Formats: sequence, C-alpha cells, structure tokens
Amino acid sequence: MCARCDRALSDLADHIVPAREAIVQAQQSGKYPFDRNAGYFLRSNLQGLCRPCHYTKTNEDKTHVGPWPSVMDAEAARPKKVYSF
Ligand SMILES: [Zn+2]
Repeated sequence: MCARCDRALSDLADHIVPAREAIVQAQQSGKYPFDRNAGYFLRSNLQGLCRPCHYTKTNEDKTHVGPWPSVMDAEAARPKKVYSF
C-alpha cells in the first residue's frame, strides 16, 4: 500500500530523503569509500508510494528548506533481518 495515503497500491519506490542528498550524506559518512552510489539503495530511505502521492511529495521535496534528516542515522536504526540457518 502507498505509505502516504494508505488507500492506493504503491507504484514506485520513493526516496524519503531525495536520492541526491542521500548519496551526499552516505559519502560524507566515510562508510562507503569505494561506492559512488552508496546511499541510493538504503532500505530505510525507501518507501512505496502511489503515483499521485509521489507527484505531490516530489513537489514538496523541491521546495524543501533547511537540513534534511540523516539517512545514515535512519539506516543504523533500521531493524536488521535476523538469519537463522
Ligand atoms: Zn498514495
């Protein structure tokens, strides 16, 4: 389901913090010195949205003022999958 309206099926994977900013943060963290696209695929920064909600959010992101939340903090707080084999 769409993470925003919770009414429509999600069509797209949306970057909660825009991808360009997420990549900059990941690079500045120094955790991924050999991955130029680190930050793009952080699971904690992705959500499923329907197209109308994604359109609305994209416009909001374009007019965003001030600092973005830390994608690295969010990723560190993400529950990790526990494997049992
Ligand atoms: Zn929606």
